[in-house]
Formats: sequence, C-alpha cells, structure tokens
Amino acid sequence: MTRHAIYPGSFDPVTNGHLDIVRRCRPLFDRVTVAVAVNPSKHPMFSVSERLQMLSETFAEFDHVEVASFSGLLVNFARDRQAQAIVRGLRAVSDFEYELQMALMNRRLAGTIETIFLMPSEEYTYLSSSIIKGVALAGGDVSSLVPPGVETLLKKKAHR
Ligand code: ADP
Repeated sequence: MTRHAIYPGSFDPVTNGHLDIVRRCRPLFDRVTVAVAVNPSKHPMFSVSERLQMLSETFAEFDHVEVASFSGLLVNFARDRQAQAIVRGLRAVSDFEYELQMALMNRRLAGTIETIFLMPSEEYTYLSSSIIKGVALAGGDVSSLVPPGVETLLKKKAHR
C-alpha cells in the first residue's frame, strides 16, 4: 500500500516553516500532496494559481511531493486521492485548540483518515504567513524566512 499524506493549508505565501514540515513528512510517507485550500471567505494576498506556482517551484526538487488545490471538504479530497493521512504543523499551544477541533471533526467525517501533527524546528515556531506578509509589506527583510522565489513575489506586491 502506498502511504500518502495530504498537507493542506492556505500557503499565502509558503514559508520556510511549511518547507520544514514537508521535509519532516518525506521519510514517513511514499507520497505527499501539498494542497492549497480554496476558501472563498478568505481574502488572500496571492491567487490560487500564484500559490500553486510558488509551491511547485519550492518543491520542484522534492521527489514524491505533489502540489494541488481543493475546495470543499478536505476529507473528500483526501479520500478521492486515496490518502491515509492529513498532516498539520503545530507551532505552539495557540495552534492546538483549533487543530484538535478540526482533527476530531475530520475523524467524525472520515474515520479512516488520521491527522498527524508535526512540530517544526524551533526557529520556525514563531513564523506564520501573516507575519511574513506584514513584515514584507512594511519593507522588512524576510529573505531567510521564505523560499527565494517567494521573496521576489512579496517584493512585487509591496511595490504595487
Ligand atoms: P491554514 O490557513 O490552514 O492554517 P497555513 O498555510 O497558515 O494554512 O498553514 C498550513 C499548515 O501549516 C497548518 O497546519 C499550520 O499550522 C502549519 N504551519 C504554518 N506555519 C508553520 C510553521 N512556521 N511551522 C510549522 N507549521 C506551520
């Protein structure tokens, strides 16, 4: 059986924290699908196609890592893709309550799909896409916190 995990998120934009989680997934699974959640109620900085593009570039050298987008229920997407696991990153206690709620709801909807939590390296525990956007828009240097292509895209948005 192929061990396949879905790593869902907004990835608006992808950061080195996300990258750290994907790196940790790779020895555990045969396939990892990084999946952009299309959420019409959110107002992202980057369009779905921009996010797919930046993820494809970020993971271009990673074997067995795919990039996709989905709308609607994550568990339906996971089932359609024959994935056994959903991977989420846990940075701090503040992530826990929402993540526990989501994991238990997903288990109720699809009892055979397990949610697995991975902790990033300490240097990324404070990192979020929102803080990156805030700092980059204000002209701060985020080059050590995001993949190189993402820094360029953020600079373009900041100069608009
Ligand atoms: P969402 O809107 O689903 O929270 P994000 O793109 O913010 O989407 O996050 C996707 C997943 O990656 C979540 O599980 C989140 O906790 C995790 N994540 C985000 N930033 C980091 C980080 N710096 N370190 C580890 N995990 C992270």
